[in-house]
Amino acid sequence: MHSRSNDIKSPDNVGKLVTLRGWVHRLRKQKDNTFILIRDDRGGIIQVIVPSEKAVGLTIESSIEVRGVVRRDVRAPEGGYEIKANELKIFGLAQLDYPIGEYQSPEILLDKRHLALRTRRMIAIAKIRAFVLKFARDWFTENDWIEVTAPIIVKSAVEGGSTLFRIKYFDQEAFLSQSAQLYLESMTFCLGPVWSLTPSFRAEKSRTVRHLVEFSHLEAEAPWVNLEDILNVQEQLVSAIVQNTAKHASEELVLLKTDPNELRRIEPPFDRLTYLQAIETLRAKDCIIKTESGDQRTIQNGDDLNIDSERELTKDSRRPIFVIGYPLAVKPFYVKEDPLNKGMGLVADLLATRGFGEITSGGIREDDVNALTKRIEKENMDRSSYDWYIDLRRYGSVPHGGFGLGIERLVRWITNIKDIKDTVLFPRTMSRVTP
Ligand code: ATP
Ligand code: MG
Repeated sequence: MHSRSNDIKSPDNVGKLVTLRGWVHRLRKQKDNTFILIRDDRGGIIQVIVPSEKAVGLTIESSIEVRGVVRRDVRAPEGGYEIKANELKIFGLAQLDYPIGEYQSPEILLDKRHLALRTRRMIAIAKIRAFVLKFARDWFTENDWIEVTAPIIVKSAVEGGSTLFRIKYFDQEAFLSQSAQLYLESMTFCLGPVWSLTPSFRAEKSRTVRHLVEFSHLEAEAPWVNLEDILNVQEQLVSAIVQNTAKHASEELVLLKTDPNELRRIEPPFDRLTYLQAIETLRAKDCIIKTESGDQRTIQNGDDLNIDSERELTKDSRRPIFVIGYPLAVKPFYVKEDPLNKGMGLVADLLATRGFGEITSGGIREDDVNALTKRIEKENMDRSSYDWYIDLRRYGSVPHGGFGLGIERLVRWITNIKDIKDTVLFPRTMSRVTP
């Protein structure tokens, strides 16, 4: 059996013979001894000392196995334990020109992402991502939501045509899914509260630090809920994910220079701001936005909130903020109109602290067949592709709603990473489909 470095680093193991496999992370050759930092297959690192004659020709990132005795030495990096090895076996000798170094340009790190994954930073991010997914799934399971999956190849757009990916589907046109929502809505009428984790695709043409072309979309939908119910689910879910990740991944968070204690304080209730309050706050700060025609002016009632305005709203906040009740005009066709506030939707976006902005968007869906049909017509959408969706309102419609959460947005906030490309191992952007 071979061990990992974290299992080895314990007072009980001192003097014991161990076998360790991994990759050469750092290498320092001296006359008699060679000092190797080995990185195991979970990213743990420990120092190994081997006689230099056994490490002739060894290179950075070669894959090796060593066998030796565990010693305690406070001078040893990575926790004060090391292995004095007498045997070294090489699985794969790495070429000398390993392209990932400490001071590499971001572009090269992206071009060589398949190798850059081996850096401690990327390993930490990948582990945090795994925790986020695990705690999300745990929360839904514990709260009796059923996990479902929806098709990725679809005929009906959810978020509007401008970010649709068209594909040739035999002899017809189809799209890559932008959201599983319409399918979750149909499932919620036979399975109750449901959730899914599927990739969503958006042809995002503007380059921002929070948009990917392919992202992991966590979506949830439930029957007989009102907007407040949907907000409660989100604050519980997000708090559970964030707190548990802070608890279980504190080492990784510290490595990424994030404070786990700050995350542990994220708990319900989150702050709530109406859309109009948000606009007033932003106008008081003279928040400037760019209109579709390219002009710049102060934000006003009716505008959508963009990255800058969301940053302005959340940069000093201590807890996430729900912005509630956007105008229907800036939200998709399926949003239900607020009966007490004409022209406004029963929707809310959740904005994360530290200026990170939107991480979820959700609300109540239009459940009336006539109102929904009118909206589809008003937006000049292809009726035939939505006929199945309208059926849901023809046969036993009920009030229902849900939300969508971008996993990478959440990871970006938790890890305090500026660029969303770094929260996913193989990012897809307008200019990048490889590796
Ligand atoms: P934005 O206004 O930031 O473009 P959106 O309104 O298009 O977001 P929704 O369609 O409501 O977003 O999607 C639900 C959630 O999915 C968002 O709150 C966000 O967390 C995530 N999301 C949306 N688009 C992207 C993207 N291009 N990359 C990563 N995550 C995304
Ligand atoms: Mg968008």
